[in-house]
Amino acid sequence: MSEFEPASRVSRIKSSASVAAAARVRELKAEGRRILDLTVGEPDFDTPEHIKAAAVEAISQGETKYTSVTGTPALQQAILQTIGLRTGLHYTPAEITIGGGAKQVIFTAFMASLDAGDEVVVPAPFWVSYPDMVLANDGTPVVVPCGEETGFKLTPEALAGALNERTKWVILNTPSNPTGAVYSRAELRALADVLADFPHVYVLTDEIYDQIYFGEGRLTSLVEVAPELKDRILAVNGVSKAYAMTGWRLGYAAGPAPLIAAINKLQSQISSCPSSVSQAASAAALTGDQGFVRESVEIYRSRRDAAVAGLNAVDGLSCATPEGAFYAYVNCAGAIGKTTPEGTVIRDDQDFVLYLLDHASVAAIPGSAYGLGPYFRISYATSLDIIEESIAAIDKAVQALS
Ligand code: PMP
Repeated sequence: MSEFEPASRVSRIKSSASVAAAARVRELKAEGRRILDLTVGEPDFDTPEHIKAAAVEAISQGETKYTSVTGTPALQQAILQTIGLRTGLHYTPAEITIGGGAKQVIFTAFMASLDAGDEVVVPAPFWVSYPDMVLANDGTPVVVPCGEETGFKLTPEALAGALNERTKWVILNTPSNPTGAVYSRAELRALADVLADFPHVYVLTDEIYDQIYFGEGRLTSLVEVAPELKDRILAVNGVSKAYAMTGWRLGYAAGPAPLIAAINKLQSQISSCPSSVSQAASAAALTGDQGFVRESVEIYRSRRDAAVAGLNAVDGLSCATPEGAFYAYVNCAGAIGKTTPEGTVIRDDQDFVLYLLDHASVAAIPGSAYGLGPYFRISYATSLDIIEESIAAIDKAVQALS
């Protein structure tokens, strides 16, 4: 039998580094090792009861069939209402789409819009999936490094330098995975001013963490400060992070009708629709009591404060204060070039993260996976006890380097 040869688009991409890290942690745990797991990209809370109850109700009412590609009327209404409240702008049903998670919506958006040679500006550090999603859909990721000195954010100058006639998309992820950085109104406005000169460029704003925000009031969305760009912005969101619903797989996006129609056309051939039960649960999440979101944000805030203070107290590490999401991006330049007790040299953040796993039993993800080193990402979507124990173990391991 001849060896299976995957399609070229498969060899062009990597598996998700965060999914791989989670699998490695599961393996080590199965071997009986106790691992302090800071890799997790999902809330450690359970889905709220009223959301589960809506799913159970949908099942018993026989809402178990295909829905329209664009979702049940209840979910459509819930999404339109949510987007209206968040942006202050009016969207119609023809301007929204749904999919099996924000991840699938983003993938399908690229599939619907990219041809070979089209460029996508990806500010780094980036969510691991963006470049590979672009590559899988024949596009070319143009990675723009955004260092700590600009708060890990894309500046107007860097944006202007990356745009050209081949640019199809710019990705903006606020709050960011992996840094927790949030774009202010003024920063968004300055980026919008640059985009005014490039009318062929679309912006994908990934706002999946928009409710996990530690600042005053509500997070600002690009379309809100630049409504003149509404026909060029695809605002992506979902229920995974805010409502602890990662396993339900439901994401949505709002954007210009022609783009949405193209996405929906593909969606009709890809999955027909996301699970009808998840749609019912998601409608309940978006329209029901929002107390869970407020309470969980306060819990994340206290964990963030403990994590940032603890990590900054470690000689050799430093960490900016994230304004949203549940990640911190830790600078480990102070550990690079040092030698482990076994005599091996830490060459980069991948070596450092492996060293932490071996010596501190702490699992984190190297910054190189996000396109900017030497850093590592920790998730604080875990208990305060685990965070404190991890930081003590990290401190001990770092001090053992010479
Ligand atoms: N965007 C970002 C920045 C994320 O971190 C994630 C989840 N890790 C997603 C999108 C996808 O979310 P989901 O598919 O669960 O809606």
